[in-house]
Amino acid sequence: TNWVYRFGGGVSDGGKGDRNLLGGKGANLAEMASIGLPVPPGFTITTEMCTAFYDNGEEFPDTLGPEVEAGLKHIETITGKAFGAPEKPLLVSVRSGARASMPGMMDTVLNLGLNDETVAAMARESGDARFAWDSYRRFIQMYSDVVLGIDHYIFEDALEIAKEDKGVHLDTDLTADDWQALVATYKEKVEEELGRPFPQDPKDQLWGGIRAVFASWQTERAKIYRRLNDIPHEWGTAVNVQAMVFGNMGETSATGVAFTRDPSTGANAYYGEFLINAQGEDVVAGIRTPQYLTREARAAANAKSASMEEAMPDVYAELAATFARLESHYADMQDIEFTVEQGKLWLLQTRSGKRTAKAALKIAVDMVADGVISKEEAVRRVEPQALDQLLHPALDPDAPRDVLTVGLPASPGAASGVIAFTADEAERRASLGEDVLLVRVETSPEDIHGMHAAKGILTARGGMTSHAAVVARGMGRPCVSGAGALQIDRQARTLTVAGRSFAEGEQITIDGGTGEVMAGEVATVQPELSGDFGALMGWADEFRRMNVRTNAETPADCRAAREFGAEGIGLCRTEHMFFDSGRITSVRQMILAEDASGRREALAKLLPEQRSDFSEIFRIMAGLPVTIRLLDPPLHEFMPQRESDYDDVAAASGTSVDRLKRRATELHEFNPMLGHRGVRLGITYPEIYEMQARAIFEAALDVAAEGEAPLPEIMVPLVMGAPELARMRALIERVAAEVFAERGTDIAYLIGTMIELPRAALRAGDIAEHADFFSFGTNDLTQTTLGISRDDAARFLGEYVDKGLLPKDPFVSIDEAGVGELVELAAERGRATAPEIKLGICGEHGGDPASVHFCEGAGLAYVSCSPYRVPIARLAAAQAAL
Ligand code: PEP
Ligand code: MG
Repeated sequence: TNWVYRFGGGVSDGGKGDRNLLGGKGANLAEMASIGLPVPPGFTITTEMCTAFYDNGEEFPDTLGPEVEAGLKHIETITGKAFGAPEKPLLVSVRSGARASMPGMMDTVLNLGLNDETVAAMARESGDARFAWDSYRRFIQMYSDVVLGIDHYIFEDALEIAKEDKGVHLDTDLTADDWQALVATYKEKVEEELGRPFPQDPKDQLWGGIRAVFASWQTERAKIYRRLNDIPHEWGTAVNVQAMVFGNMGETSATGVAFTRDPSTGANAYYGEFLINAQGEDVVAGIRTPQYLTREARAAANAKSASMEEAMPDVYAELAATFARLESHYADMQDIEFTVEQGKLWLLQTRSGKRTAKAALKIAVDMVADGVISKEEAVRRVEPQALDQLLHPALDPDAPRDVLTVGLPASPGAASGVIAFTADEAERRASLGEDVLLVRVETSPEDIHGMHAAKGILTARGGMTSHAAVVARGMGRPCVSGAGALQIDRQARTLTVAGRSFAEGEQITIDGGTGEVMAGEVATVQPELSGDFGALMGWADEFRRMNVRTNAETPADCRAAREFGAEGIGLCRTEHMFFDSGRITSVRQMILAEDASGRREALAKLLPEQRSDFSEIFRIMAGLPVTIRLLDPPLHEFMPQRESDYDDVAAASGTSVDRLKRRATELHEFNPMLGHRGVRLGITYPEIYEMQARAIFEAALDVAAEGEAPLPEIMVPLVMGAPELARMRALIERVAAEVFAERGTDIAYLIGTMIELPRAALRAGDIAEHADFFSFGTNDLTQTTLGISRDDAARFLGEYVDKGLLPKDPFVSIDEAGVGELVELAAERGRATAPEIKLGICGEHGGDPASVHFCEGAGLAYVSCSPYRVPIARLAAAQAAL
């Protein structure tokens, strides 16, 4: 095997097509080098090495050594420097680079190759001893932290003491001699911690760095990030070893990060930040607040310090030309890291830039208009899940705002919530159901779980490309960063701003589109779904084959779903209507009745209520199919809760509370989810399904008489075989005949069933004899196939995913290997009996893009999902069909 791929200096062993093997960073470095862009020479160790490393008990195969040597030789030849040499020493960086970008999640070591000898050469050759010793102490600190596992506080404390001893506040007040003395202290600290000296041999350093970066694939935070972003653990990371270039060699040096378009809004303008005389990590870590790239952006923000365009016009012009080149080469918006070393531009990375949903839509639509990409490609490019950001409310422009300060608009959307000052606290409060805003001086990769738990993120420091901003945009969380007026006291757990103080747990609001930070909660409004959104969804609708319906039962949800483009209802859960305060007593009377006549009495009260529910839905969904499911859930869900509930039922039914309680005890079930529910209710209490069927037919005829006829599809839940459905079909047909005879008119309708039990999937061939349609209830089908309670799964499934025992949470994304096979098998057996049978899905999976893909493959006619996921499903269905 070839483990090492070189790039730079006219050589490129790989290219952009090699992302799986070289990781995103490595593939793009090779690509940039191959089109002649200035990339410091280096080599990539493949992701296959990562896999081999872990398969091999965290050891490298013997064949790697010579290949790394050859890689180093390549860098030495191009740079004219030599690794570990007492003159012209070569320094390298060692960085991770996975297939999918995982910003800040894995480790990096810079300045590798420095030791007591090479530091002297570097001081001599650069003519800047201070720079050389500063680099060496940075290297010792970073290497010790990442490779040797020594806590970085030890070094930070030593630095603080050095500054105190000297009576200075800033790092910049320290001289070359001070840094040299500090290096000596650092080395002593390392020896104290490890019992052996800091490694002086550059080769030892290099292998330590390579090993540490591969090992960082398995850190806790990297695993969490992969779980949250559906990145398979087995992909592994590549490692990039590359000649160092220095952005901290004085005023003609700089480092920066840029996007070829605005990643928040999608506006077609260069966008980015840079710092003069700094190293790359300084920009991303948010320690210094960076300067703007373009004159225009600087002017718009009214910032004082010069933009790069003004401070370094020649290099800026070269950079801008590179942006244009890269964007057209990749036909996509790029996110670029660069360094200027003494006036010479170097590119360290390019990748497709992470962007908000709004920006993704605008960029895709603009690029189609400019003929850069096709409509199909535009549809493929927008991540369905990201649309979620656009579908949620924004701050009401007319609502009063008590603005405390304004920071940077780092990730759009509005969020109100209670303040949490640590990631753990944010997670704790969120688990109690609170809406939380995570408020930090700055965030680091350790905070990822708290950022995910929070509704929004607010930081006092850091720019638009700080960790907080990048991660928040990726997660779709609103974020305001760099709100410098915030004073956060972590000890006292207070936030002070504009002379006011807020304790942890107090409510504030942020607007990630404007950067405003407000006291209290601010009213919100629904988003506007036109413009770029409308254009892209229109193209998606052209390309998709499957229909998209919604799971809804309230008029408000039905209307919202139609606005989002739902093409009917795939699941109306009638039991949700039974909880209305006006009718719950009648429902309880029905359940607790001792016989059919008692039940009928209660059902007579429910009939007009259900009829009006259905009429309303039929009117909203005029002309579209509406699947109504007959009563499904275990009856205990409706049992009286309080003493007064029993009093109400006793009064309504004319029996005593005691008798009712006795009856309630009789009805108790040990395992209600596998108990008296679904079609079993229809078998034992047929009068319930009779009432519901009557309500459906009467409502359908009423609405048909007013105008457009609905298409009712009556659905029987939780069948396990053909006999149950045959019996229910006869019942429904009898009621239909009765109602049609009474009204002297009729209407078309369908009768079908849910496939929610493994036995139903197996017997789909017989069941299809009695069904016009199947709807896969994959929530229950997952529960019953895996034998995992859907209500208790959350306690242990996370660990299953982390330990690699399941690829994803099967209640979120369909378990293709198990549940998926049952769905395919049932579809095949059902079609063998009834080729025209209509197949759909109505479990939660109907709104999950990966599951929608699966449904396309299984040839389903439609997916059905909750209203807010309808656009996500439309786009996912289009992508699946393309
Ligand atoms: C299902 O089981 O997938 C389903 C849609 O029904 P419910 O979620 O109501 O059980
Ligand atoms: Mg179900």
